[in-house]
Amino acid sequence: MMRTVIGIALGLSIAATSGACATEPAGTLPAATAALGTTDLKSIEYSGTGKWFQFGQAPNPTLPWPAFDVSAFTATVNYDAPAARVQMTRKQVVEPDRARPAPVEQKPVQLVSGTFAWNMAAPPGAAPDTPPAPQPQPAAVEERTMEIWTTPHGFLKAAAANNATSQQTEGGSEVSFTTDGGKHKYVGRINAQNQVERIQTSIDNPVLGDTPVVITYTDYRDFNGVMFPGKIVRTQGGYPVLDITVSSVTKNGAADITVPDNVRSFTPPAVTVTAEKLADGVYYMKGGSHHSVAIDQKDHIVVVEGPQDEARSTAVIAKVKETIPNKPIKYLVNTHAHFDHSGGVRTYVAEGATIVTHEMNKPYYEQAWAAPRTINPDKMAQANKTATFETFTDKHTLTDGSRTVEVYKIAGSGHNDAFAMVYLPKEKILIEVDAWAPVAANAPPPPGPPSPFAVNLNDNIRRLNLDVRQIAALHGPRVATLADLQSAVGRAGANPTH
Ligand SMILES: [Zn+2]
Repeated sequence: MMRTVIGIALGLSIAATSGACATEPAGTLPAATAALGTTDLKSIEYSGTGKWFQFGQAPNPTLPWPAFDVSAFTATVNYDAPAARVQMTRKQVVEPDRARPAPVEQKPVQLVSGTFAWNMAAPPGAAPDTPPAPQPQPAAVEERTMEIWTTPHGFLKAAAANNATSQQTEGGSEVSFTTDGGKHKYVGRINAQNQVERIQTSIDNPVLGDTPVVITYTDYRDFNGVMFPGKIVRTQGGYPVLDITVSSVTKNGAADITVPDNVRSFTPPAVTVTAEKLADGVYYMKGGSHHSVAIDQKDHIVVVEGPQDEARSTAVIAKVKETIPNKPIKYLVNTHAHFDHSGGVRTYVAEGATIVTHEMNKPYYEQAWAAPRTINPDKMAQANKTATFETFTDKHTLTDGSRTVEVYKIAGSGHNDAFAMVYLPKEKILIEVDAWAPVAANAPPPPGPPSPFAVNLNDNIRRLNLDVRQIAALHGPRVATLADLQSAVGRAGANPTH
């Protein structure tokens, strides 16, 4: 959910002018271009309903991305700019066997134009009813650009502009081209009716590397003078992220999407990390939306959590080494496989650390981390390292003979089934994330009933009989106490996080 805005806008623009297809012997592209009415198409807007799925937030590593019902969906694409706006109204589907906070209706508005991406949203942490304003999202440029060139008409335009090649296949032909100097490859299947029925490409992700994206288009029909699929299904990383039944399509309507000044002039802030001492040799490594904890052992360091991405991990590792000099980071404890909490783990593998995680996560990481990383090779790929793991079922202990670091499964949480928290018995410090996030010291508790995730955390602390003095939550503004958690659980405090 909390994808960082750290990242570089890739040079992703594609000249969208139509041109001759030099190496396209079968006439596939001209036939498809004519069949879909692409030549005079400058923009398209399509609407529908269906499902959206939250990429990277599976409840455990063997399950698909969690589903949201989409009651309204509209995508507006300007092929000349190129630019796009996607708006939807969605609400999470609560699985019958999973205790989640009551879902809240979301109305995201996501835009891209050339090398700029932004959302229309209230700023993070704003008061309710704050009006939406442009929020720069440079890390989203790659994905949103891909969404333009994987629309049926966009694919044909991009194929024509990028010297596509084609070959006959059973029941049609396959058209291929690359963009960005070969970084992104697109392969599309054109069927016997000259319709684009399947497109495959890849985009970068910190966990999955070159992440396969597959879009299938079926049920083509004439919508008001333009041929368009009635059904769109997109998978990303092997599971659906979008499943839309199209109800209306408009071509060449108004599609002016202007890059706001604050988006155009935005420079991502430097990744900052501060070290706050919680006890002798225990440091809360804070900064941004996702924190870590560093523990100074006799001849090595234990870091709890490698969130977000390599930029975050690189900054945390530098601060850890400054705070605890001349010792290697021997262990990285990973709380769970949600991508915002595992996107920086590979940097610790490159650093030589052993990954401590629940046993359910190991095969997932091993498979994900073996995928190619051609789009954005990270330090682990460059170092050609393989991860080593220590896994556990219910409990794992790390010790240097003096200080003990206990890693426990958070049992029965609706948030995740392979979910860990860390307890330091001598210091009576609990480290957790996504089970509960404290509010600022003098802030009122959030409205509504307590989050089932927080209730479950409190139950686990009681079940394990942990004597907790400080809770270092890896989301949130401050170190809290057990009394803070009990108050949130006992009175109010819905505080869902991802
Ligand atoms: Zn999570």
